This record gives sequence, C-alpha cells and structure tokens, in this order.
Amino acid sequence: MSEVEKQDLKNKVVRQDVEKTHPCQKCGACCASFRVSFYWIEAESYIENSVPQKFIEDLDLNTRCMKGTSHKHQPKCAALSGRVGENVGCTIYNNRPSPCRNFKASYESGYQEIRCDEARSKHGLKPLTKLEWK
Ligand code: SF4
Ligand code: SF4
Repeated sequence: MSEVEKQDLKNKVVRQDVEKTHPCQKCGACCASFRVSFYWIEAESYIENSVPQKFIEDLDLNTRCMKGTSHKHQPKCAALSGRVGENVGCTIYNNRPSPCRNFKASYESGYQEIRCDEARSKHGLKPLTKLEWK
C-alpha cells in the first residue's frame, strides 16, 4: 500500500469515528421525562461550572430544579435543544447539574439502567441494548 493510500485509509477511519453519534444525541428522553432537582449550591456563581441561573427554578429553600422539568405534564428541560428522539443537545453541557452528570444510559457501562429505559419508553423509543455501544 502506498503512503497516499495509507493516509486515505487513516482519514477514512478518523471520519467514521467523528461521524459515529452517541445514542444520547439521538434521544434526550431523560431531559423530557423527570424533574431534575439538585442542591442550591450547584447554581451559585462562585462554584466552578455552576448551573446558569436563567435555566433554574426554586423548588424550596434548599432545592432548585431545571426550568421546565417540574411540569406535571410533558416536562422538558429548558436547556435541551432539538427534538427528542431525533437530534438533541444540552446547551449547558459543561454546566449541567449533578443528576444529569450521574444519569446513565442503558448498557453504556455494561448494565441495564431502568430510568433510561423508562424515559425512552415515555417517548416511544425502544430501550438501548448492548449493541448500541459496539
Ligand atoms: S441540563 Fe442538559 S442534560 Fe440536564 S436535563 Fe437539561 S438538557 Fe438534559
Ligand atoms: S434516556 Fe437514556 S439514552 Fe436517552 S438521553 Fe437519557 S441517558 Fe441517553
């Protein structure tokens, strides 16, 4: 194989890696299913990567939640962009609160995650399987 062909192959592999979409980017169901609440301090501006004030609501003295997620019917986080089940993104990804950081997609770490399955089911999406992570 010539050097040019080798470089072409390398570029193709890199392109395929970039194009592979994380399953959560085609879902977003958990951001539009549950109340996302957290301790007030996560939204304090002196904390590194704090949750932006404009995206939060007060639940009580000590608890905040992501705006839009406390709705009883069709909760949806105000920081979610795109369309659930198609193409979504968290507009405050580096500043998302701890429940979002800790939420696990089914089988991403090798185990079924009931809450992920539940959220997807609410939006008519099948649960993720091990195959999604190959
Ligand atoms: S902050 Fe981001 S990850 Fe968390 S619920 Fe909202 S859109 Fe989803
Ligand atoms: S419901 Fe599961 S697959 Fe969908 S965005 Fe949340 S963690 Fe990812």
